[in-house]
Amino acid sequence: MGRNAMRLDGIGSTIFAEMSALAVRTGSVNLGQGFPDEDGPEEVLEAAVAALRGGRNQYPPGHGTPELLDAVIAHQQRHYGLALDRSQVVATTGATEAIAGALLGLVNPGDEVVVLEPYYDSYVAMIQIAGGVRRPVTLRAPDFRLDLDEMAAAITPRTRLILLNTPHNPTGTVLTRTELEGVAALAIEHDLVVVTDEVYEHLTYGVPHIPMATLPGMFERTLTLSSIGKSFSVTGWKVGWASGPAELVAAVEGAKNWLTYVSGGPLQPAAAVALDQHDAFHQKLAADLHGKRDLLCDGLEALGMRVYRPDGTYFATTDVSAFGHADGRAFCLALPETAGVVAIPSQVFYDDQDEGRHLVRWAFCKKPSVIEEGLRRLGAADLSAG
Ligand SMILES: *Cc1c(COP(=O)(O)O)cnc(C)c1O
Repeated sequence: MGRNAMRLDGIGSTIFAEMSALAVRTGSVNLGQGFPDEDGPEEVLEAAVAALRGGRNQYPPGHGTPELLDAVIAHQQRHYGLALDRSQVVATTGATEAIAGALLGLVNPGDEVVVLEPYYDSYVAMIQIAGGVRRPVTLRAPDFRLDLDEMAAAITPRTRLILLNTPHNPTGTVLTRTELEGVAALAIEHDLVVVTDEVYEHLTYGVPHIPMATLPGMFERTLTLSSIGKSFSVTGWKVGWASGPAELVAAVEGAKNWLTYVSGGPLQPAAAVALDQHDAFHQKLAADLHGKRDLLCDGLEALGMRVYRPDGTYFATTDVSAFGHADGRAFCLALPETAGVVAIPSQVFYDDQDEGRHLVRWAFCKKPSVIEEGLRRLGAADLSAG
């Protein structure tokens, strides 16, 4: 009999841990979990070493180190024309803790949260832990655009907030200005807060990322979440932040004070160096990823898969039903054996199992040689069902 509290019922271990362990056990090429296999900028790593050696090893301020807060402020100004002060930014343990802090700090038990489906898995866990009720709005193949009528229908008098993610993991959808304006109109009409996870803000391919907070009338009701991990290829650092009106930022801080309180003392000043001095890194990263996206997508297409080419993030989605697989989970569980490759079944990101059953997510934030080896193995294997 399980001893876990009810708030954890149905929340398993993350699929990424499960599939990455399977990759290691079977010697598979891991195109599952989205972590890059190349390091962040050398000077940024050196800045972390310098901070470690330079006495930055005690608790940083609860709000974040001044360098990091100022670097986030300068970043939002430089990239998006947003003017923030230090009361409008809080440092968190990755975007993950910013998500946790936002949901614990803003959602009462029974409140409804409108969330894009397929969803990032921590949203589901944290909405449940906060006692909230998720109301998914599905992004549907083939183009995974946001249906604003569906979003309008998902809003009820119990809706507390809209949780957005753009660029969107796992579909790669980058919300357009028109879509964002539609969400903004709904948020204003129903007096809702928008929490927007923008960790892939710099990883788009030929389309602009537009922060929700830049839309007219939206700054005052938008909490923006991001982190250093994806933009600078340091996913293990877990340095993130929330920014927006002081009242919303204070809600995040009020919750995160009792989760970690603080973290990443020496990494916060190094993250500031990344934000302040290394725009060229994520510009080059995005250009590289654009090429890797096409390498992977062209290769999967050549194998006969229907491929949905993403505008952002580092994931591509395919439909595996052409191989006679009705179920992406069965396909992914068999894949390490049949081909020596790991991918993620997208159905774990859906409430609506019919929408996601036949979809599989592939990560392309890997060296070209790794992607090529994965494709070679897939090409040599018999991928058909049964
Ligand atoms: C990776 C990811 C996160 C987590 O970011 P960390 O900074 O590593 O905590 C949050 N949201 C989405 C959509 C992600 O893909």
